[in-house]
Amino acid sequence: CAVFGIYGHPEAANLTYLGLYALQHRGQEGTGIASLENGKLLLRKSPKLVSEFYTEDLLNDLKGNIAIGHNRYATAGGDPEKDLQPLTAFYSKGPIALVHNGNLTNAIELKREMENEGALFTTEVDSEVLVHLIARSTGMTMVEQMGAALSSVKGSYSFIVLLENSMLGVRDPLGLRPLSIGKIGDAYVLASETCAFDLIGAEFIRDVDPGEMVVINEKGMESHKLFVRKDAPCIFEIVYFARPDSQVFGYPVYLSRKRLGGRLAKDSAVEADLVIPVPDSGLAAALGYSEASGIPVDMGLIRNHYVGRTFIEPQQSIRHFGVKIKLNAVPSILKNKRIVVVDDSIVRGTTSRKIVSMLRAAGASEVHMRIASAPIISPCFYGIDTPTRTELIGATHSLEEIRRYVKADSLAYLSVDAMQEEIERAKDQNNSRKGFCTACFTGCYPIPFSKEERIQHGL
Ligand code: 5GP
Ligand code: SF4
Ligand code: MG
Repeated sequence: CAVFGIYGHPEAANLTYLGLYALQHRGQEGTGIASLENGKLLLRKSPKLVSEFYTEDLLNDLKGNIAIGHNRYATAGGDPEKDLQPLTAFYSKGPIALVHNGNLTNAIELKREMENEGALFTTEVDSEVLVHLIARSTGMTMVEQMGAALSSVKGSYSFIVLLENSMLGVRDPLGLRPLSIGKIGDAYVLASETCAFDLIGAEFIRDVDPGEMVVINEKGMESHKLFVRKDAPCIFEIVYFARPDSQVFGYPVYLSRKRLGGRLAKDSAVEADLVIPVPDSGLAAALGYSEASGIPVDMGLIRNHYVGRTFIEPQQSIRHFGVKIKLNAVPSILKNKRIVVVDDSIVRGTTSRKIVSMLRAAGASEVHMRIASAPIISPCFYGIDTPTRTELIGATHSLEEIRRYVKADSLAYLSVDAMQEEIERAKDQNNSRKGFCTACFTGCYPIPFSKEERIQHGL
């Protein structure tokens, strides 16, 4: 999902709309904005794209100089109309609106407990448990209340919470999902990715730290350490999910991807005439591969930009159709050429298989597939929609079996170590943190599972 928030700007809703526009890639299943004017919460949400939903009139209705927004990316079923964010409520201390990126892994248990005590839930969204936990919290100050509420949740979260006189931004102790702080004039902005700041002309200040909560109010911004940080940000944000023009966790995404491609050329060289990126996710890595190998790069695959990301489509039947609708090969470039086709990742293998056959049908004489990450062998429980283990081709097939399935002349991935090394080399100098969550590539999860979770996930 994408989250965005702005405090203290006369055009709060308009800027939130722009921010959500820049963050559309993080979720296409719905969008919403809540603003606050004179203690009154105003809310608009819809299961549409940002570009389809918001109109000038609608944004004019969202008055006030504080607003938060969300783009939804569903990781598990839910109701497309009801399960949208921001979530809003009124409790003993006033209005509250909340947006969440991540996945609370113990939400079902917490919800069951609270329902047994009489709580009424209105959505299927895991994030709603936090609204209840905040409302029930007995802490004296907002900081104490948030600390108490968050100490009972497990999983990943970057939350933005809007209250009567303040806006809060908080990240889980592992910092699994990103959240950055920016400033436009005197107004503070929070966003999932820095590309949102670029669009609205805000200056990037820093990231919210793992385990940190920032409180923004009329006095400015305060920082509170709620939890000891145990950094394990999501490496897949850098490999695939984030926009290449963003900086997440202190790593420039585009440069990191280019380095991954360069490393792939060194570790898995092959004789070929042309490097072909799989657009858009493989672009930066393909350029890095070409630069490091000296093999020229060309756009032998063209993407139709009016089609959403295939993996977001919920049904298997649509997914298969989606590949053809999204990508087409260029015969004049590919004819009688030995091709290195570069992509960011393989999940099920179905897209990759279609791409290889498309390249051959367009005249390629050899197709060598290079993947700028390690095989995905385990599902993500922290907010990225990977399928179950049995559907992950990297979990069920050997390298040679995958090569045969996608019908490539050769296939190579990066090792997890190589990924981490290259990404570390791309980071900015002031960034001293090390280590990532790599669970989908290694099966080593940074948050221990409860007995119930093990049963639930068949682990
Ligand atoms: P596959 O060959 O696994 O079907 O698809 C690989 C390509 O699709 C890559 O370009 C990757 O970016 C994208 N992709 C396909 N399905 C998924 C998915 O379920 N999750 C993610 N994160 N990416 C996917
Ligand atoms: Fe990211 Fe993979 Fe960890 Fe999920 S399991 S948070 S996708 S690195
Ligand atoms: Mg892709």
